[in-house]
Amino acid sequence: MQKLSDPMAAIMDKLKAKSQAFSETTVATEEPAYNCPKCKDEGGYLVRKKAGETTLLQNGAEVILQYDTEEWQKCECAKMRQLNRLIKSSAITEEFQKMSFKNFTTEGVHPKVVEMKSKANQYFRAFDEIKGYRQNSIMLIGQPGCGKTHLLTAISNYLIHTKQVPVLYFPYKDGMNNLAANNFERKNEIMDRMKEIDVLFIDDLFKPIGGKVDVKPWQAESIFEVVNYRYLNNKPLLVSSELSLDDMLYIDEALTSRLFEMAQDFTVTIPKDMKVNYRLRKVFENK
Ligand SMILES: [Zn+2]
Repeated sequence: MQKLSDPMAAIMDKLKAKSQAFSETTVATEEPAYNCPKCKDEGGYLVRKKAGETTLLQNGAEVILQYDTEEWQKCECAKMRQLNRLIKSSAITEEFQKMSFKNFTTEGVHPKVVEMKSKANQYFRAFDEIKGYRQNSIMLIGQPGCGKTHLLTAISNYLIHTKQVPVLYFPYKDGMNNLAANNFERKNEIMDRMKEIDVLFIDDLFKPIGGKVDVKPWQAESIFEVVNYRYLNNKPLLVSSELSLDDMLYIDEALTSRLFEMAQDFTVTIPKDMKVNYRLRKVFENK
């Protein structure tokens, strides 16, 4: 059942069913079953074009053909595979893929949470316009459990699915453990990806453990190196943190000031107030 809710899985299932139906009708020719019967998994196919028809050159210019030719046309399935790769590389789990603006309820929540949702929405709509500028990021901070991750995940999903923009998800605590794994074996490789990816989503920056913030020097250095690179190269960040801006400044002033500059048009701070807690809302409704 889980598979059905995954849109890519649903499309793949449909394609498989299609190719199965296709192979059943062509048993006589003993053609193998392809994922895409249209291009036979080649990613494209030749199209015959007659003299007098128009064609597009590589530079986008349109010309009229003087002779009959065969043209290679990219298949729709290639586009779909590209999207599939994006989803895998973003490391956003199946559970996360379900998070959208639509299923983020604002009924009965703190007005700041409503504001946060509308800011997230505005950010997504402004993305194409601002992505190349310094002020191209969004930061949702403060009160844990009020839906910051949900909204930034919704933005990630929209970017991946509707704009084919690669997003890398970096959950701060686990991500840092990943960097440190096997004596920092893959640290440089991971950090290069974090620097170069189109959009980097840092979830729960400086996440406190047991109520205490504990940022090791190598952790501060690593995250600063990534953020500073993205700052200098105008590469968008989606950032959530349960700390206040003051706390973040106290931990790392250089990092926080860069984040704040990048996200200055899209920063929302949720006050630390238990009644804002989105996950606990149901509990308060009963009181
Ligand atoms: Zn195809």
